[in-house]
Amino acid sequence: MTMPTVRTRIAPSPTGYLHLGTARTALYSWAYARHHGGCFILRIEDTDVARSTQDSVDQILASMQWLGLQHDEGPFFQMQRLQRYHEVVEQMIAAGTAYRCWCTPDELDAMREAQRARGEKTHYDGRWRPAAGKVLPAPPADVQPVVRFANPQGGAVAWDDLVKGPIRISNEEIDDLIILRPAPEGGALGIPTYNFAVVVDDWDMAITHVFRGDEHINNTPWQINIFRALGAPLPRFGHCPIILGDDGQKLSKRRGAVSVTAYRDAGYLPEAMLNYLARLGWSHGDDELFSRDQMVQWFDGSHLAKSPAQWDPAKLAWVNAHYMKAAEDQRLAGLVRQQLQGRGVDVPLADEADDVLVRASALFKDRCATVVELADWAEMLFVPVVPREEDLLAHVTPAVVPALNSLRERLATVGWDKAEIAAAMKQTLAEHQLKMPQLAPALRVLVCGRVQTPSIDAVLALFPRQTVLHRLQAA
Ligand code: GLU
Repeated sequence: MTMPTVRTRIAPSPTGYLHLGTARTALYSWAYARHHGGCFILRIEDTDVARSTQDSVDQILASMQWLGLQHDEGPFFQMQRLQRYHEVVEQMIAAGTAYRCWCTPDELDAMREAQRARGEKTHYDGRWRPAAGKVLPAPPADVQPVVRFANPQGGAVAWDDLVKGPIRISNEEIDDLIILRPAPEGGALGIPTYNFAVVVDDWDMAITHVFRGDEHINNTPWQINIFRALGAPLPRFGHCPIILGDDGQKLSKRRGAVSVTAYRDAGYLPEAMLNYLARLGWSHGDDELFSRDQMVQWFDGSHLAKSPAQWDPAKLAWVNAHYMKAAEDQRLAGLVRQQLQGRGVDVPLADEADDVLVRASALFKDRCATVVELADWAEMLFVPVVPREEDLLAHVTPAVVPALNSLRERLATVGWDKAEIAAAMKQTLAEHQLKMPQLAPALRVLVCGRVQTPSIDAVLALFPRQTVLHRLQAA
């Protein structure tokens, strides 16, 4: 028997930004498809009409693209498939696996109230479910019916979860789910609920493996029952545990950034995010740093963690620092340029042959965890610095000022590169009988507004000569 081609999907709802947890399951779905030479599909689950926005759709697409999780098919939009859900609903009603229910919200409330009063778990009592010999009430004319799935009675739903292992849930615990709600004001077609649309889509898109967050575990029995009712092949399911914040609580907006775009804007590199997200719930031996290609090679659906992982900003920064070091200077320069422009800094257009940002990236990237930190360094090249009073007092002392003045004169005429600047500094030190640790901090404070920098001759060479002369004048 030949196995069907692996087909995975990610199905975000456009009711907000792409959450880190969704990005992680997107990564697993993508890597699993790539590992097997299969197909990765992007589907936008936009049936929550009140909360779905175009802005969220754009954010999701931008996040996926930024992460480099290229989909092979889609994006598909559920709201463009309403006709198809209706078709399936009609087939199910005809087959007796779904039925119309005319209960009003008030009736449902009363039903639950009575159940609670009897000490029962609340559930739909099946009053509109057809059965042999059962006489149903006449449908009220003024109520728009919903459609419910006739969940099998008795027995259990069981599946072997790719992450959690065998799971079994009794059908007693599941009631007849609403699968289609009446058309909203002005709409011609009713809106499917999540558990139904997801099944029709996974079926139509021939999805073989579903990776998603474990908040959906309780939905899976319904979905499996609907797949069966449709005679559709079941995908394998893998439910990944939630990501915890560094306080051990569920990662949430209140506790810091949860969207992919927030990390992009905070200066993280996509390859670092992917690497970090991958490890957050999956492992390959003791490997902490690996490329996309390695992940694709290794990700076969095994070694997924059963217990929740904790978001660790310090580790993410460490991973990002690794990729900062490895990144091409040219690329970092482009990212730094964007950062600075975002801050309103006027960055002169790059001269291809000598882009100061490329040289700055080469010089500073080793000490930066993020592009934002790198931009913090580069900013001094374009905007005046304001040295702190205590730094000026500590380092620009009367003993050093004469040397600064003669260095300034030399720098006015030397060739403008690191070696010539270094030579000018050396001559100045000899002339004034000073040592480098006296002169260098004063230069750093005046020109860079900081006490510590990489080798000061290299740093000075990044600036236009006039800027250095001007800042030294302040001595
Ligand atoms: N729209 C659902 C969500 O964003 C998709 C869940 C699934 O993958 O089935 O949680």
